Amino acid sequence: MNSRRDFLQKLTASFVILNLPGQVSAATGGFTTQTYDGPALRIAIMGLGNYGTRVAEAMQSCKKAKVVGVISGTPAKITEWQRKYNIPTSNCYNYENFDDIKNNPEIDAVYVITPNALHHNQVLRVAKAGKHVICEKPMGLNAKECQEMIDACKKANVKLLVGYRMHFEPNTLDVINRRNQGEFGRILSFEGGTGFPIGDPTQWRLNKALAGGGSLMDVGIYAINGARYMVGQEPVWVTAQETKTNPAKFKEGVDETLQFQLGFPNGALASCVSSYSISLDRFLLNGEKGFAELRPAFGYGPIKARTNKEELSFPHVMHQTTQMDDMAGIILGNKRPLVPVDGEEGLKDLKIIDAIYLAVKTGKKVPLSL
Ligand code: NAD
Repeated sequence: MNSRRDFLQKLTASFVILNLPGQVSAATGGFTTQTYDGPALRIAIMGLGNYGTRVAEAMQSCKKAKVVGVISGTPAKITEWQRKYNIPTSNCYNYENFDDIKNNPEIDAVYVITPNALHHNQVLRVAKAGKHVICEKPMGLNAKECQEMIDACKKANVKLLVGYRMHFEPNTLDVINRRNQGEFGRILSFEGGTGFPIGDPTQWRLNKALAGGGSLMDVGIYAINGARYMVGQEPVWVTAQETKTNPAKFKEGVDETLQFQLGFPNGALASCVSSYSISLDRFLLNGEKGFAELRPAFGYGPIKARTNKEELSFPHVMHQTTQMDDMAGIILGNKRPLVPVDGEEGLKDLKIIDAIYLAVKTGKKVPLSL
């Protein structure tokens, strides 16, 4: 297994797209239905790498969102995507000229799917061009960048969403609904493990300048975000410890394995591990009256969930299909998801990431104010 893609792909081994008549896509919180004859959100994808490719493929099953344009530095990829998705040359841009998208009435939004360090500047430029933005996680490299991105989008009067696909996943949403209804009683603890053995040492994910960190920026963010949506509160402090088994591969500023703890206002505790060496994909929520386990919890699925009472069995739909249909509903129809996916949500996770790195550096408990 050589890469994150291979790892996540493995988890998708029994992948099936289900498209049943009248089916509600995110069974408990989503709002995408089979019958839809309204306008589609016309999206240009920026960054035609592994994840951009997956998103575009998943969007072929969307009803409310459509790939209509591309932004890439590789002309051969543009030609291939044009052929595959019937994209006119007038909707193709590179990283130098994409500001011209402001003059293109055929494109409503840009989905930024490039290495982490590029998100900030690219989102600022898309906002300035007057287009809505969907930005991959982590939204920026730190809270300061995220705040600037939020401000730029507000100023340009465009919407800013972060690619949190789990916020549209039916098993996840059902667990959140059950917690909201009190099924697990007072929440006491959360355990989150997110990790995979990363391959190629030359990839951008192991380059501090492009990734902004290591496993925490890439997969630990799922445990942070998951702790927040599973516990249903915002943490008020963090402690963290770092361990490295391979300092030659995981250089200064690129974390291999981080263990961190988040404290919540009601006294609940989240204990999380984020790793580029260990395979981890599990969330466990414990309350006074019951528990919920998601395992796998953040891979491409099928996600498996159970509670102390029963196994959940929502049909698997490609996450990015549901995500993009529901995001179109948010952008075009002002719909509100059960768990937010806006810039403020991305900012909160980066505030926690900043605090985790500070806690590792100082060895101290760091207070949080979200
Ligand atoms: P990737 O390396 O496969 O693709 C990145 C793309 O950006 C490539 O096409 C590359 O050519 C392009 N690029 C533009 N400028 C570049 C530069 N200066 N250096 C390197 N590449 C440059 O990476 P990916 O796995 O597609 O990840 C892209 C983003 O998507 C990351 O922010 C990552 O965190 C996010 N992601 C999210 C999920 C998810 O499930 N939500 C999954 C995978 C990746």
